[in-house]
Amino acid sequence: MSVFFSKRFEKLVPYVPGEQPRGQEYIKLNTNESPFPPSRKVINALNCAETSLLNRYSDPSAKALVDALTGYYGLPTGSVFVSNGSDESLAFIFDAFCDGKRGMVFPDITYGFYPVFAAFFGLKYRTVPLDENYRISVNDYKDISDNVIIANPNAQTGIYLEKSEIERLVSQRNDRLVIIDEAYIDFGGESAISLLPKYDNLIIVQTFSKSRNLAGARIGMAFASPEIINDLNTLRNSFNPYNLDRLAIIAGTEAVKDTEYFKKCTAEIISIRESTVKSLRALGFEILPSRANFIMAKCNRISGKELYLTLKERGILVRHFDDIRISDFVRVTIGGREQMDALVKECAKIIEERKKII
Ligand code: PMP
Repeated sequence: MSVFFSKRFEKLVPYVPGEQPRGQEYIKLNTNESPFPPSRKVINALNCAETSLLNRYSDPSAKALVDALTGYYGLPTGSVFVSNGSDESLAFIFDAFCDGKRGMVFPDITYGFYPVFAAFFGLKYRTVPLDENYRISVNDYKDISDNVIIANPNAQTGIYLEKSEIERLVSQRNDRLVIIDEAYIDFGGESAISLLPKYDNLIIVQTFSKSRNLAGARIGMAFASPEIINDLNTLRNSFNPYNLDRLAIIAGTEAVKDTEYFKKCTAEIISIRESTVKSLRALGFEILPSRANFIMAKCNRISGKELYLTLKERGILVRHFDDIRISDFVRVTIGGREQMDALVKECAKIIEERKKII
């Protein structure tokens, strides 16, 4: 830390992204990316993009992308905010709607960036424990006047909360915001977007990083009332008005248009997820019920940490979290069929080896 670093950030512990290994080839199942390439239409549009225009700034309103999303989801004009990854939407939301008095509340096990945003912006936050089955109990939130953020399906568990329960949470009180982070919603859940016309205190955040195969393009979005979107744009225009570059705007717009490819890829991930769950359960793994593009798997013959390390040694990268409530698990991103077959095969071997030891 330099002597110049602001005292405000002395204790800041940054978010730790999953490993992005360079050099060694892994079967990479650790950061919930799509194993499939972007849509052909995205690639073609990028190939035809007028890169000679990169000397000019991008459109600060990202109109093409905002219009495509507004049309796709049938939203009123002014209800869509776009950002550099959904992390940036989340950051603006924390900053815009919380302060030292009105904090943010979220489950004890969820996306690890939420407490980091709170610390970064100097906000108050509090966590509410998931129940013993790792589920969110909506009743736990009824007396909370701070804003609430929930990932649905939840990050690190993959467990989905029915839309009717989301509505119950949003309608519990109208003096706070409820933010639903739907990063994984396209893998078998139902979005709460249809609730937006009914509730002014609802914000929905989504991303192109998972179901639209564009993690590297860094595109995210938030949907809410035009007043809320206006607030977010006030912050964005006071921080980085050109937050999406020209190529990202083109990629995102084309990805939204290619509904067929989007549906095909998400259906394939769901199908691979279900067969992987079946195979791992047959090996004796306990798997949390997932509606995301990842699963949480644990086996009583090996600790989560050891399984992660052993798989890594053998060329398969999954993710392990030290958080005590989930440290027995590894989180496995759903990859292509061959990748998942390789994972299941390696897990079977590891278990056989353990049986000999014990
Ligand atoms: N929300 C959740 C729940 C996530 O797991 C992630 C991915 N790490 C994000 C948001 C951020 O994704 P991105 O910035 O790539 O859109």
